[in-house]
Amino acid sequence: MSAPRFEHSYAKLPPRFHAPATPDPAPAPALVRLNRALAEELGLDAAWLASDDGVAMLSGAKLPEGAEPIAMAYAGHQFGGWVPQLGDGRAILLGEVVAGGQRYDIQLKGAGRTRFSRAGDGKAVLGPVLREYVVSEAMAALGVPTTRALAAVTTGEKVFRNGPEPGAIFTRVARSHIRVGTFQYFHGRDDDEGVRLLADYVIERHYPSLRDEAEPYRGLLLAVRDRQAALIAQWMSLGFIHGVMNTDNTHVAGDTIDYGPCAFMDRFHPRKTFSSIDRQGRYAWGNQPGIALWNLARLAETLLPLFGADEAQAISWVESELGAFRGTFGEHFARRFRDKIGLLDDGEAQRAHVDTTLSAMTEGEVDFTLFFRHLTALLAGDDEAPLLALFADPERGRTWLSDWRAMLEAEDGAKGNRDVERLERMKCANPVFVPRNHRVEEAIQAAYVGDYAPFHRLVEVLARPFDEQPEHAELEAAPAPEEVVQRTFCGT
Ligand code: AMP
Ligand code: MG
Repeated sequence: MSAPRFEHSYAKLPPRFHAPATPDPAPAPALVRLNRALAEELGLDAAWLASDDGVAMLSGAKLPEGAEPIAMAYAGHQFGGWVPQLGDGRAILLGEVVAGGQRYDIQLKGAGRTRFSRAGDGKAVLGPVLREYVVSEAMAALGVPTTRALAAVTTGEKVFRNGPEPGAIFTRVARSHIRVGTFQYFHGRDDDEGVRLLADYVIERHYPSLRDEAEPYRGLLLAVRDRQAALIAQWMSLGFIHGVMNTDNTHVAGDTIDYGPCAFMDRFHPRKTFSSIDRQGRYAWGNQPGIALWNLARLAETLLPLFGADEAQAISWVESELGAFRGTFGEHFARRFRDKIGLLDDGEAQRAHVDTTLSAMTEGEVDFTLFFRHLTALLAGDDEAPLLALFADPERGRTWLSDWRAMLEAEDGAKGNRDVERLERMKCANPVFVPRNHRVEEAIQAAYVGDYAPFHRLVEVLARPFDEQPEHAELEAAPAPEEVVQRTFCGT
């Protein structure tokens, strides 16, 4: 058995990029779950991680030789308001491992205070830890770029939130933890050299092909733009609402990061939000592309000094290039939704039909995931009743369905029936299982009384979200109306 051998490329950046941080040892650590498959992917020894020494590391009690724990500095716009210093207030980066040519951060979330903790205790509690575990692993299995869950442990300590709650530590794996807010941290201090060092680091780590370009820093902005456009379209195609798309929660490699009050929507509405603090609907499902663009503009501001001496030229270049975000996003969005409804061609009529579909779903108040799931089943030969039953007004469903059928016929035209190809695409685009909020809540509530079985079951079912798993069919179902959970856990 062997402990991980950490590398420390980020810690080698100048001291103003980070602060040394020492995890608080957990008084009575217990492993809740270890992600053995991920450990293997990372070249880590799962048997060691599950051993006393492994759990000691995962709970912050004892780090292996060569660990050089740090907290990263960053800033950010939170709900549009500028905060010049945030940073890892309850996260400690142990180091990096390299597997398959990819560098990954291994980070403990909830292991105690750091220089960036401000008034916070640096701790995490069980609910949000389990929530991030379930949702981030489900996202990975759904094929969404995301941070991952390596482990969850309880600490044996009580942490005060709405009352005493069990303390827990989440081990997060990420291709890095660099955010738009990391760039903003240096920009906000007029530290152009810091921005340049960070940009060089990000290019080296995430976009190495840019090194050979004439204008690597401009290339960096475009690359982040394009990854965000793809990511947000993919989120939306799954009914996913991030919930807190602040610039400090926007990853520069286009990964989903910082799962707080996020959710997969049950009943569809484009203006749906999931965070109780998001009263204005800033981060609603349908606002996500606009917010991503806003966040990209904040990134562009930080990079501007690297774009050459002619500032007016640089600004107009940025405006025109960020202006292209909508188009790129629109392409991704249209393709993803065409796949979901089984449209094969990329034309005006198909795009219009995607819009028609979303309007029908909104008016029909249909369950997002079940709508596409039942539609897939319908094309495979099932009855139309389950699909129509999702509509508050089944007549509305019938009208839409006949439009859809007409659309498919028009697409096929002289080509002949292409349903086999359609079905293949729909099955890959429409998951059977997503982590529904009421199920995640239920698993958390059970864990609070010592029963981890619902949590483990969710994680296991969601590892194969596109597979029919009839024995777990109840996890597919939408919540009963009275069950809809109003409150979601915030990150804290
Ligand atoms: P998040 O909600 O994860 O996006 O965090 C926003 C900011 O608050 C980050 O700088 C966190 O490090 C910090 N933060 C959140 N919870 C805590 C906590 N319990 N203790 C210290 N800092 C925290
Ligand atoms: Mg955050």
